[in-house]
Amino acid sequence: MNSAGPTTYGSPCRECGFDWFASRETIVAAVENMPGQLGDLLVSARGDERRDGLAWSVTEYVSHVADNLRIWAERLVGARRGPSRLIGPYDQDDLARARNYPAIPLSAALWSLDEGVRQWSVEIRRAFDEQTVLDHPEAGQLEPIDVLVMTAHDALHHVVDIRGILSAT
Ligand SMILES: [Zn+2]
Repeated sequence: MNSAGPTTYGSPCRECGFDWFASRETIVAAVENMPGQLGDLLVSARGDERRDGLAWSVTEYVSHVADNLRIWAERLVGARRGPSRLIGPYDQDDLARARNYPAIPLSAALWSLDEGVRQWSVEIRRAFDEQTVLDHPEAGQLEPIDVLVMTAHDALHHVVDIRGILSAT
């Protein structure tokens, strides 16, 4: 596995406790369970709640995680179908601005999250079955396990951010 995650965040992650070395099924299941957990957690949230020290509101984090999972699913499809497995990076803050995350109703962001998780779940499993490899211009070659831990950690880390925002409001 690429060591960037544990090196940057600690092993397990110092902030969210993510275990980079948990089994593949445990990690996939944690992401698959996330929309349901967030739906319960956010049942009476407005979505515009924020907290000092965290860049985004609740809805913006949900929208980011939804987009990130869907985009990585798309990247895996692209590598599998070809002709190139080279990823085109993008700036997540530019995407947030272009998509105008604050204007998205939380209910719709949660729907997007559900869709993103569903697409990610199908494609990450297929990536392991077919040993799909991506080429990242900065990170280099990404095996299925690298894509799994990178994308799952991003999603689950932001759940902790969202819990932090709610506990401060
Ligand atoms: Zn983390």
